[in-house]
Amino acid sequence: MESKPLGRTGERVPVIGMGTYALGNAAGEERREEIRALQKGIELGMTFIDTAEVYGHGKSEILVGQAIADRRDDVFLATKVAPEHFGYDDVIQSCDASLQRLGVKFVDLYQLHWPSGKIPIQQTMKAMEELVGTGKTRYVGVSNFSVEETREAQESLPRSELVSNQVRYSLTSRSIELDLLPFCDREKLTVIAYSPLDTGSIPKTIPKDMLEKYEMTPAQLMLNWVTYPESVITIPKAGKISHIEENARAVDIRISQRDYEALSRRFE
Ligand code: NAP
Repeated sequence: MESKPLGRTGERVPVIGMGTYALGNAAGEERREEIRALQKGIELGMTFIDTAEVYGHGKSEILVGQAIADRRDDVFLATKVAPEHFGYDDVIQSCDASLQRLGVKFVDLYQLHWPSGKIPIQQTMKAMEELVGTGKTRYVGVSNFSVEETREAQESLPRSELVSNQVRYSLTSRSIELDLLPFCDREKLTVIAYSPLDTGSIPKTIPKDMLEKYEMTPAQLMLNWVTYPESVITIPKAGKISHIEENARAVDIRISQRDYEALSRRFE
């Protein structure tokens, strides 16, 4: 699996990881399949796993915890705190609750899920720095932050560095190209692209000649395209093992710059 640097940390993370929104709600065989799918993804190198306290009110974190129970060291684990918990004490409590659900001593990346219109970012980031200091998270990230909000987040972290911004990005959702993507490139912040497969509504208009040329499925071409810019990694969600296997091979080869640009223009 191809990897990229995480922010300025010097650490590398896989270009294709795994999202877990809506996982963990099922029971029985479907649940076992979800666990096997995550474990298969780890085996295939998609070791970056993203979850959040709000996903299924903690059910996603519990499922991820079960899937990684005997392979914690193989995984780069990311979760998120929701804006209603951005007060100093609430951040600490939320993190402890996530660690408990995940069954781990620390996460690798703790992210602010959305900007808060109410609680000053300085207060929230003070708690994030406390979590770094006590070893409960290794790194701090944000999600759905604009350029201005990201800058403010960076300035509110005197003792640690912001490493990432998780935002929607796909062949058909391109708004970050206007300013956030170039900003993150310049600042060496990792962009974690969510919903890279348009939440499963994969467009039917991806050119067949390109799929044939690279022997890729539409999903693979979308993942290959979205991770073409230097600072972007992505976290497609797949509950089905066949999808996991497909996604893990999406960057085995790289499309040419010319085809990248042609595809970009076509879906602009
Ligand atoms: P997505 O990854 O774009 O799409 C997921 C859907 O695509 C699922 O229905 C999945 O089906 C299907 N799929 C996966 N691989 C496929 C393949 N190879 N071929 C065809 N279909 C395939 O959407 P998402 O779940 O919204 O985004 C990914 C992750 O980003 C989330 O799980 C979450 O971790 C994160 N996220 C973050 C935010 C945020 O605010 N920070 C918001 C949204 C999402 P199966 O499950 O049946 O395999």
